[in-house]
Amino acid sequence: MADRQLHDGHGRRISDLRVSVTDRCNFRCQYCMPAEGLDWLDREEILTFEEITRLVSIFAGMGIEDLRLTGGEPLVRKQFPDLLGMLAAVEGISDLSLTTNGYLLGRDAAALVSAGIQRVNVSIDSLQRDRFFQMTRRDALPRVLDGLEALAAHPEVDPIKVNAVAIRDFTEDEVGRFCEFARSTRYQVRFIEFMPLDGDRSWVPESVLAGEQLRKMVAAIHPIEELPREPSATARVFRFTDGRGEIGFINPVSEPFCSDCNRIRLTAEGKLRTCLFSMSETDLREPLRSGADDAEIDGIIREAVWRKELKHRVNEPGFQQPPRTMSAIGG
Ligand code: SF4
Repeated sequence: MADRQLHDGHGRRISDLRVSVTDRCNFRCQYCMPAEGLDWLDREEILTFEEITRLVSIFAGMGIEDLRLTGGEPLVRKQFPDLLGMLAAVEGISDLSLTTNGYLLGRDAAALVSAGIQRVNVSIDSLQRDRFFQMTRRDALPRVLDGLEALAAHPEVDPIKVNAVAIRDFTEDEVGRFCEFARSTRYQVRFIEFMPLDGDRSWVPESVLAGEQLRKMVAAIHPIEELPREPSATARVFRFTDGRGEIGFINPVSEPFCSDCNRIRLTAEGKLRTCLFSMSETDLREPLRSGADDAEIDGIIREAVWRKELKHRVNEPGFQQPPRTMSAIGG
């Protein structure tokens, strides 16, 4: 297998694939999407379950082991648990995870678990109902928390992580509540720096609340100590020194973690993105639908990944925000 493993031109082994199963979402988060939503892809444009499964099998044959399913909001895709079951059966995929806004978790938790989900990240930017509404334009916090509890009832789903996008002049007022949330539940809370991938294109460096500042705010409330970083990890994770839980910081803007990046992404319509901030993409749907065999598609993927970007250039002069927004990439 070693000689078949996927590597980029910088010597990094690529073993983590994020697949966006839909560009649609039932939320309208300020840092991601305009209030009126976006022009959604037509049904025939997005990959079918069979096409996704075939591509994932090809990727697994190249040493992809970690598979994360994202959106938009993946749970709005009809029969999503069926797709999950198909992907859980793909040989070589050893870690199957999901990123969701949690709104449909109450409905789907049991089906997701029986289909084989192992880890789940739930996006929650505020633990205060009115501020949650302010950020997501949905009055949905109680339902999301109920969904989280429904999922937590399944001990085989571990870890469950709660991701809060950190935005200056908003998140500061959430730090205390998120600390208590991390300390009183089995959820690992992580703050993620706001990235220039928003639909309104209103991101400016000043709107970023840096991880280091948040870490100081947390430490001022409860002492924390850093845990060893996993290879290719995106988060710096800390434990509360009194042993009550963990809290993390994902700092792509202030502390980029590109040097050992092992991630690539597949969009809902079958475009391969080698970096979150890629300005170009490789179409896999067209060869898939025009009869290319697995070896041909394997070759197309390898060539694209070989050209994977060394790093993002968010902090550099001349940085260009990608035309594709976070909701159409999936994180
Ligand atoms: S910005 Fe690109 S290179 Fe950097 S960690 Fe993210 S995906 Fe990897």
